[in-house]
Amino acid sequence: MEKALEKLHEKTKLAKTLVGIDALLGWDQEVYMPAKGINARAEQIAWVSGRIHEAVTDPEIGRLLEELGASEANPSGDPSRPEADRNYIRFVRRAYLQQTRIPLALVEELSKAQSLGQAAWAEARKKDDFPSFKPHLEKLLALQKKVAAHGGFEKKPYDYHLDNHEAGATEASIAAVFGPLGKDLKRILGKIAARHQVADPAAGKKFPAAGQEAFGRIVMEDMGYELERGRLDVSTHPFTTTLASDDVRITTRYHEDNLLSSLFSIVHEAGHALYELGVDEALKDDILSDGCSMGVHESQSRFWENTVGRSRAFWKRYFGKLQGIFPAELGKVAQEDFYRAVNRVEIQPIRVEADEVSYGLHVILRFELERALFSGALEAAAVPGEWRKMAKEWLGLDLKNDAMGCLQDIHWSMGAFGYFPSYALGNLYAAQFAESMAKAIGPIEPLVEAGNFAPVLGWLRTNIHRWGSSLLPSEVCERATGKPLDPAHFIAYLEKKYGEVYGF
Ligand code: ZN
Repeated sequence: MEKALEKLHEKTKLAKTLVGIDALLGWDQEVYMPAKGINARAEQIAWVSGRIHEAVTDPEIGRLLEELGASEANPSGDPSRPEADRNYIRFVRRAYLQQTRIPLALVEELSKAQSLGQAAWAEARKKDDFPSFKPHLEKLLALQKKVAAHGGFEKKPYDYHLDNHEAGATEASIAAVFGPLGKDLKRILGKIAARHQVADPAAGKKFPAAGQEAFGRIVMEDMGYELERGRLDVSTHPFTTTLASDDVRITTRYHEDNLLSSLFSIVHEAGHALYELGVDEALKDDILSDGCSMGVHESQSRFWENTVGRSRAFWKRYFGKLQGIFPAELGKVAQEDFYRAVNRVEIQPIRVEADEVSYGLHVILRFELERALFSGALEAAAVPGEWRKMAKEWLGLDLKNDAMGCLQDIHWSMGAFGYFPSYALGNLYAAQFAESMAKAIGPIEPLVEAGNFAPVLGWLRTNIHRWGSSLLPSEVCERATGKPLDPAHFIAYLEKKYGEVYGF
């Protein structure tokens, strides 16, 4: 390997090692750390974060990129190099510019505003007091507009933040997808609303955590999540974290009155973990051993959670096992009734509790508000009113308070604008990937019903996982499916599935 490229890999591998240390500290904090460890832990994490910042902004990286011929006109460097090297150079350059273009004083100001914003948001949500959060929202917006300007997006600051979560995405490209998607989702919800609601045979029953865990572990290991390279633990909010290429851990939480919450968290997080574990050996423990975007990452978790875990085939395989664990609670429940209940559509104000159909509308609502906030068409003060208006118009909801409305999500209090669209993109990618997968390996249902997940995981590894973050999301989608992202696949999936569940 040429010297400059070798040196660059050394630099980016160091950054990846530090990111892994940071992840370990964060994982321990959420899973095992005693409460009083928090102050020391905050210092430890801050120290490691400082080293990560130094490592990724090391001027030597800029010099090496230059030596490798990477520039604005030619972000991948010399075109005669192998594709893998060019993709690596392109990624490192992008990350380096993202990190170095923003002045340190602004990074620090933003970091402080985020901490204060999160604390203010938590209080505001508890007290249902938007006005106390409003100045923080204004401050964070102003700072993120400045950040975007430094990033070269002075005229289109929202594009900068969208691109940060989904490389290549713009307000226009997302609007082109979300426009038709919103109309189709409303149309399907209209059809469902006209039918009888399906009953929930598990409602009101208690399911001890030990049984839930035993079941979750069976499913997760069947999926191909190996415990030699991962762990399942308990935390307040489920998450996946990558400590190293062979150490990707997940968490869940158990609610005795909600049987499926822990299961679907396990399946969802294991989907994320399988993605990171499936990155090509050649990219191991280097900067590309990561998912290519938030949206594609979410496609992996949602594919397993919804396309697999909420399918009839899945419950044909697993309902008997679940009944065996909870005979008193589920012994008399019919498998088909359980399957229908798993896919019950019930519009509610909280996004994270939304069903597969209405979920996208929650996301589109936030996208519309964010773009208006960034263009200046909407003032922060008008957010609660606008949120209620849209919730009524799109979801038919009469919101009683802002805690159930514009204060429900943490993202804006962290200054994370442009994040929400990836949640909906995940569903869209998942449906499109599933169609291409079925063309390549045959119908997925019989495999799921047989618990034969290897061909499914194999297709994902070959077509999505192995690239890590070496390709842009649009490139992964085109290579895996031969087409750009098209919401028609997701809509067709919903029509078929919910037409059957609700009989339309
Ligand atoms: Zn997720």
